[in-house]
Amino acid sequence: MKVPAQDLRRPGVLRRFSWSSIVQWFDAGHLPGGAEALRSEPDGIDWVRCVPFVLLHLGCIGVIWVGWSWTSVAVAACGYVIRMFAVTAAYHRYFSHKSFKTSRCGQLLLALWGATAAQRGPLWWASHHRHHHRHSDHEEDAHSPHVHGFWWSHIGWITSRRNFPTDVSQVKDLARYPELVFLDRFDMLVPVLYASALWGAGAWLHAHAPALGVTGGQLVVWGFFISTTALFHGTSCINSLAHLIGRRRFTTDDDSRNSLLLALVTLGEGWHNNHHRYQAAARQGFYWWEVDPTYYLLRALSLTGLIWELKPVPQGIYDEAERRAPDQEDRAVPISQPAKAPTRT
Ligand SMILES: [Zn+2]
Ligand SMILES: [Zn+2]
Repeated sequence: MKVPAQDLRRPGVLRRFSWSSIVQWFDAGHLPGGAEALRSEPDGIDWVRCVPFVLLHLGCIGVIWVGWSWTSVAVAACGYVIRMFAVTAAYHRYFSHKSFKTSRCGQLLLALWGATAAQRGPLWWASHHRHHHRHSDHEEDAHSPHVHGFWWSHIGWITSRRNFPTDVSQVKDLARYPELVFLDRFDMLVPVLYASALWGAGAWLHAHAPALGVTGGQLVVWGFFISTTALFHGTSCINSLAHLIGRRRFTTDDDSRNSLLLALVTLGEGWHNNHHRYQAAARQGFYWWEVDPTYYLLRALSLTGLIWELKPVPQGIYDEAERRAPDQEDRAVPISQPAKAPTRT
């Protein structure tokens, strides 16, 4: 539901102060009124619940005091790439779409890896993403730039009280595993450990390799705050820009698009129209020229035996792409129209 700016000032739309919102910083499962009741409320920003997210952004300003070094910039860049892979390979292609298989231990490692991105827990992430695919660019979609506007699709929707709980009905297959439920409930745990490890590494380098000019605070600001903020906005581009810019190969009942630029930023997720046409595939770049680093990583991991049965793109999908006339490529189906044919998998 779109929330016009003037409506955000109305009493009742902005959430009143609640101690529960503070407890939820540490225990996302603390929902005294129940998840369903919260999810049935109208959209409205829960500013108290959003404090950790606001602090994540404000933490970047710390660079004024900690300065920079080549080491800290490299740690931030590596942290971005490694954790973008975590979002794309683990949270998206595994937990949301089960596009490959792994062991239960491998699944836990994927969940821990994904949690370092500080984008909430695996069940929360997957439940909202599956919901997005079911209602893409239609009224119920929580983050459609066409229905809600760019900024709501990019950042606003995660601040809304109704989107904080995990919709377990969307992820029953994942909710069977208590270790995943634990990580989802205490979703702050892994990011705090990650930031703490960065501080420890920075303090160690400060003591043992002072020539690098690194401090604990510097690695936290660059390696956690700046890197994680960039990671969030890179990921969010798929919710916002990937439904606005690029070309459409397939006629889907949404406005998803393929973009090389977004594929580079997100390590392969920019082929979003391909993905909306066939979600189950492990690859989103359907052709060799569609750069998809996440798929390359998954192929490499499959050689180690840690993951297996990467789902391919069926020949029928390639045939469908071949049948499309060139002049149809950029013609999106009007999003107000219902789907004429099932395009979901
Ligand atoms: Zn989408
Ligand atoms: Zn998806």
